[in-house]
Amino acid sequence: RSFEELGLEARLVRALSKKSIEKPTPIQIVAIPLILEGKDVVARAKTGSGKTLAYLLPVLHNLFADSPSKSNLAPAVFILVPTRELCQQVYSEVTSLIELCRVQLKVVQLRSTMSASDLKTSLAGLPDIVVSTPACVQTCLKNGTLQAKALQESLSVLVLDEADLLLSYGYEDDIKSLTAYVPKRCQCLLMSATSSADVEKLKKLILHNPYILTL
Ligand code: AMP
Repeated sequence: RSFEELGLEARLVRALSKKSIEKPTPIQIVAIPLILEGKDVVARAKTGSGKTLAYLLPVLHNLFADSPSKSNLAPAVFILVPTRELCQQVYSEVTSLIELCRVQLKVVQLRSTMSASDLKTSLAGLPDIVVSTPACVQTCLKNGTLQAKALQESLSVLVLDEADLLLSYGYEDDIKSLTAYVPKRCQCLLMSATSSADVEKLKKLILHNPYILTL
């Protein structure tokens, strides 16, 4: 199957083609249509399986469709990752797709090395998409850089990437307190290489009747 057949819009398919990405991987084939439909998804996916694009492509497709209604005071999409390296990697992947698609969407990454004022500056530009570790989001919520009420109103997609590592790196409490601000209608996507008891717990905490994909 092609990316087009999975339901992705032409701009994204062209952008992929410019990156010489022509054929979806197995995880992309099953995840993309479900995520496009707005379903919650748990996917067993390792680095190298194409898991990042498996969620990014449909999330961007849906965001492109929504983008004219830009009255939000907080980001629409949060992608939570366990490490600085993955943060940079996901950030580069999103920005390059957005540039290739020539869409006016703003993406920022929040890093634990950023000062409170750097975090504030990053969020003041009203990004549509934030890539961050859970701890940085928590810091922003605590110091008022990110307003809980605005987040509840605007958040439409929450991605937990490498969820098993998020837990083993000790982000469980940050994620738990964040879930208080995740509205019911928010689409939640959880990518994890393993499905431990901890990941099961996380799944119960934030996902609503998710589709479980194991490949
Ligand atoms: P990931 O599993 O997300 O860490 O992706 C691993 C690498 O595979 C990244 O460099 C992607 O750009 C690349 N990639 C993702 N999907 C595809 C695909 N369908 N065809 C070829 N390369 C891909």
